[in-house]
Amino acid sequence: QAKSLGRNAICFFDPQLQSALLERRTLEHDMRSGLQTGQFELFYQPQVEMGRVIGAEALLRWKHPQKGHVPPAQFIPLAEETGFILPLGDWVLQAACHQLARWANHPRFGQLVLSVNVSPRQFHQSGFVDQVLKALAEHGADAHRLKLELTEGMLVADVDDTIAKMARLKSYGIGFSLDDFGTGYSSLAYLKRLPLDQLKIDRSFVRDVLTDPNDAAIARTIVALAKSLGLHVIAEGVETQAQCRFLEGVRCYAWQGYLMSPPLPVLEFERLVTNGNVPGASAPALSPSSM
Ligand code: C2E
Ligand code: MG
Ligand code: MG
Ligand code: MG
Repeated sequence: QAKSLGRNAICFFDPQLQSALLERRTLEHDMRSGLQTGQFELFYQPQVEMGRVIGAEALLRWKHPQKGHVPPAQFIPLAEETGFILPLGDWVLQAACHQLARWANHPRFGQLVLSVNVSPRQFHQSGFVDQVLKALAEHGADAHRLKLELTEGMLVADVDDTIAKMARLKSYGIGFSLDDFGTGYSSLAYLKRLPLDQLKIDRSFVRDVLTDPNDAAIARTIVALAKSLGLHVIAEGVETQAQCRFLEGVRCYAWQGYLMSPPLPVLEFERLVTNGNVPGASAPALSPSSM
């Protein structure tokens, strides 16, 4: 037993575990200094509807000086565990509000809605509502242009507190989207209680929507569910014209995905909004192979 061995429990030394721990500690240290030295950046993935860019999802990018681009899937979970997501999430909100304020009086960009991902720990911290309001106020951004993406898992924890927080933010005009919808397990009764604006069909259902009848049925059901709850619906991970056509066929008209564009640095995003044609179901197919 480790405990009876006390400080000499070194027999449990595991070099692989040791190096994994070391790597995590290094990454955590690097995240902290990276935030201070401007290594983080928001990218913007266009969200489109009926041939028009209606908004963007802000996606965090980390350019590590030695490792290059570290994907969010690698550092967000670690940041969530260590609590670093609190300063990092605040930075994301600040950056998003800064961008919204820059776009505010522009005839085209001023109409975009920016979706920002919020992590569970960030949402559940006691000062979250004030943090969001403060970020908006400090940058002079319009709350009606901000949408927060939440995930199912984080909402079941303390439903009353969750609803209270959402309702307060909503009263200022902030919107809410339920990200990765269908991958969690929220009951419908409880879904109805949340002051949401939008359900986001998870990429995993969109991917095989043409070949897997179950995924097709799920996508169709989510659209119908959204409609009956009075919510908007958007699909993520749309890569082909055919997926787009399917979605339009089940009356889901808003989507984002590589078919339009991957997440882009802000200047490229702005260029795309200004010049880009939006592909879609109604657009002519590029070639039979894209069907
Ligand atoms: P998510 O919020 O579900 O974001 C969608 C992910 O799908 C993004 O990955 C995006 O680049 C990717 N994606 C979009 N369209 C396509 C497509 O057509 N095909 C494929 N294969 N992928 C597509 P990304 O940027 O790597 O982010 C992964 C996850 O990391 C996000 O999932 C989100 O949960 C988290 N994340 C990213 N930025 C932030 C942030 O600022 N704060 C927090 N808390 N989480 C973030
Ligand atoms: Mg998201
Ligand atoms: Mg998602
Ligand atoms: Mg996802």
